[in-house]
Amino acid sequence: MNEIKLLMGNEAIAWGAFQAGVRVVCGYPGTPSTEVLETCAKLNDGTMYVEWSVNEKAAMETAAGASYTGARTMVTMKQVGLNVASDPLMSFVYIGCRGGTVILCADDPGPISSQTEQDTRRFAGFSKLPVLDPSTPEEAYRMTKYAFELSEKLSLPVILRPTTRVCHGCASIKLDGSRNVRDQKLFEKNSEFVIFPALSYRKHFEIEEKLKTCSEIYSDIPFNEVYGDAGCETAAVASGVSFSYTLEALNSLSIGKRIKLIKLCAEVPFPLRFISEALKGVKKVIVFEELDYVIEDELLKMRTNLPQKIEIFGKHSKDVPYAGELSCASVKNILSKLLNPEPVKTEKFPEAPFIPKRPPVLCAGCPHRASFYAVKRAMKGKNAVFCGDIGCYTLGNAMPLDMVDTCLCMGASVTVAQGLFHAESFFGDTAENSSEKLKNSSRKYFSFIGDSTFFASGITGLVNAAFNGADITVIVLDNSTTAMTGHQVHPGIGRTVMNAPAPKLSIEDISRACGAGFVEVCDPFDYDAASDAVKRAADYIGLSVLIFRSPCIALEKQKKKYTVDSDKCIGCGRCVKELGCPAIFIADKKAKIDAITCTGCALCSNVCPVNAITIANANEVKANG
Ligand code: SF4
Ligand code: SF4
Repeated sequence: MNEIKLLMGNEAIAWGAFQAGVRVVCGYPGTPSTEVLETCAKLNDGTMYVEWSVNEKAAMETAAGASYTGARTMVTMKQVGLNVASDPLMSFVYIGCRGGTVILCADDPGPISSQTEQDTRRFAGFSKLPVLDPSTPEEAYRMTKYAFELSEKLSLPVILRPTTRVCHGCASIKLDGSRNVRDQKLFEKNSEFVIFPALSYRKHFEIEEKLKTCSEIYSDIPFNEVYGDAGCETAAVASGVSFSYTLEALNSLSIGKRIKLIKLCAEVPFPLRFISEALKGVKKVIVFEELDYVIEDELLKMRTNLPQKIEIFGKHSKDVPYAGELSCASVKNILSKLLNPEPVKTEKFPEAPFIPKRPPVLCAGCPHRASFYAVKRAMKGKNAVFCGDIGCYTLGNAMPLDMVDTCLCMGASVTVAQGLFHAESFFGDTAENSSEKLKNSSRKYFSFIGDSTFFASGITGLVNAAFNGADITVIVLDNSTTAMTGHQVHPGIGRTVMNAPAPKLSIEDISRACGAGFVEVCDPFDYDAASDAVKRAADYIGLSVLIFRSPCIALEKQKKKYTVDSDKCIGCGRCVKELGCPAIFIADKKAKIDAITCTGCALCSNVCPVNAITIANANEVKANG
């Protein structure tokens, strides 16, 4: 039965997978991909196994194993997650899949919530895998189903690569009511599943042949289309969501008839036959694609084989920006400038409402603020370096906390701290650097890592630190959830995403097992005990682990509100300057607390030198709220 549903792109992808009969879905949360797996978990009618894996590598390996049985599988992640999963991915391509395997890897142009603006299409080219690149949530739904079929046709995993606006945009989507649940098969042993040099050599030839076949398939695929007059001498080539922007811009400029629009949503491997046909008679091409210049490079490569000369405009010609997102307005501007269309029938875009700039900040009452503050207090006047990691707590870099000196990638806080320690404490015997050695001998090296990140990739770093004798202090900021991506479960929670009970793994036991000689757990809101614990951890010579455990404020029941006694407040501003809690502000030279945002963590009451901050009574809360 056909049904129309308003779905977010990520939900649409999950529906596509569900209807295609996906049996195993594994992933690691990462914006903008997270809701795909979460929706699969919600849609699960008992025919699927769904898991949040500890990281993307584990997810990819689990999905590969499942696909060997013939089950349709999906593995979900964001673009930087594919770096983590790249090791099994490269070998998986050589082994190939039996059941259709979709690697859902969402890219983040902007970037809005990522360390990098990397383009998964490049990774696909490198790993020799086909990519599908949806331009709308509706297309993402149809493409997901198609991706499973293509994967089975080629016995290769297929990458589905939506970008943020497709993932998080919403559309009314007609669900076709199909459901392709297959019988579960058993794994059949075969030497082809065992990667060996001789097998890889043979498979390499096979993969190249499969990619040629795929280029031919992509030349006939319905997702690649040509719009407009066949006789146009100018063409715009656009992929993914950039196609939607270009279509809208052409309509808005009323120049759709003067430009041929070539839509590419299946571009790696490049559909050579389709493009050669589409470019017949074209002399000028403008390429709109976000992130890398994948299509542009392919067009540059193929143009020597075209019968006519064509000029190519895009990122290399500096007509399209190398970085950041495109938009309908930016595409329209580029087209107008390039084509100088006369007369132009312009339509005014509605002005976006004014939104005041708000720097990202830890929530009011966030336990990470208390943890950072405890370390700051304990290390006041000491020589210390603070290595940060990926999670909400990266925001500890902002003033006034200013507690993140480095941040590289998931888990790197632990290993970067080791690198700093080893480099700064090992100077050999050369005389010229002995003074430097002296200077650094009292330096303390801290690593801040969240609980989910600890499981994802912190443990390896701990083992390395213990093994190689690094003298570092690892502070685990355990708020008992994966907060940044929306509170997903992890191995320390005690249940799975399918709500099945699971062993609750202890970070303290794991730390001891990894070789940490000092392991303590402390409540960061226990004001004095918290900084005493930091001092003990920092004084320990060798690998020390201090776990600050307090649940994420978004999962907590609201505590009592706090208020400032204006008669007592001397307006020193210490509560504002030292903590940066968004609920506190200064007005009329006195501190005030916003009763709506205050979560009653009490941290500010410890900081005030004149005890002006106390628990508010009900009337004060009402008056302030
Ligand atoms: S720390 Fe105390 S005295 Fe100083 S501004 Fe804040 S509430 Fe007022
Ligand atoms: S008690 Fe103080 S620090 Fe905690 S949330 Fe309220 S205002 Fe912020």
